[in-house]
Amino acid sequence: MIMIKAMESAFEAINWKAAHASVAGSKHNKAGVPCQDASAIQINQAKDALAACVCDGAGSARLSHLGAQAVANAVTQLLCEKANEFISKTLTEEDIVNTARAVIDQQVKTHGGKAKDYACTIVALLVTNEKVVTVHLGDGVIAMVEDGSPRVLSPPDNGEFANETFFVTSSSALHRMRVNVLPITSLVKSFVLMSDGAQASLYDKKNNIVSSVVEQMASWLDDAPAEEVNLGMQSAIQNSLIPRTDDDCTVAVIRRGIFIQPYSCPICRASESLRGFGGKTKFKIRCESCGHIQLFKAETRRAYPIHVRNWVRYLACNKNKDPKQIRKITSISVDTVRRWIREG
Ligand SMILES: [Zn+2]
Repeated sequence: MIMIKAMESAFEAINWKAAHASVAGSKHNKAGVPCQDASAIQINQAKDALAACVCDGAGSARLSHLGAQAVANAVTQLLCEKANEFISKTLTEEDIVNTARAVIDQQVKTHGGKAKDYACTIVALLVTNEKVVTVHLGDGVIAMVEDGSPRVLSPPDNGEFANETFFVTSSSALHRMRVNVLPITSLVKSFVLMSDGAQASLYDKKNNIVSSVVEQMASWLDDAPAEEVNLGMQSAIQNSLIPRTDDDCTVAVIRRGIFIQPYSCPICRASESLRGFGGKTKFKIRCESCGHIQLFKAETRRAYPIHVRNWVRYLACNKNKDPKQIRKITSISVDTVRRWIREG
């Protein structure tokens, strides 16, 4: 099982990457209440789609931290699985609200209470290479950065009163939920989703603009794995956003690029001591640390497996190896390596 999974995730190329972090505000820390914000990210490699969701649990709802996480997970899963349906508008507001309410009903069965005890907002985004779908209920902000300039795609919905907001459990949820599909150009490099706690520092409500700090955070994904950026964002939120509010703060950033998911030995997890050998149709990668050999079969008889091509791109772009060094590691000819790097 482990080996099959490792092989599927071997040197895969993805076009979107995301990082996210939530930090509890001073109000909740003092009261011993858990962080009621939650977020989730999901990638659908087959469709080159990525979904992110930030949910802010209602302060007045005692189990809203559970509701927020369950809804964030369910919404990202739905958006990723049904990416084409949301982009073509076959699925709409109603499908999001129904999914979120169904998952809250499951929480009620497991943890007790009533649906309103799990109340939370929804700020979500689905992005593919040409289109973006924004999903928004309640406060929080969705913004994108195009050609270096941040632009708000979906502002907070606070109703008539400043401190009023809408939750998935509200009777007006379906009426208030906004799902929009927008085309995007290749100049769009980043998106950001934030909860209302983070708005205090990153969003200028009067002028409806977001801080360029969001673009900086997103750019961290260019050079570091998402897990590392999650930690960096956690400290940034703790140090810069938390002092400016008493509320929980959540930020999720999404970045465009060609990111290669590195492969590591399924037995010992080594990633540096890998050596390639064999032919196009049955290419093998041996781990010099433990001796494990992984077989990669070609999809067609005349070309190397896509994972091998991605491995070469990974060594060239992420590890800055030149074609001769790559030939030593992979045993693939310098000419082929050069061609793959050129073709991208
Ligand atoms: Zn190994």
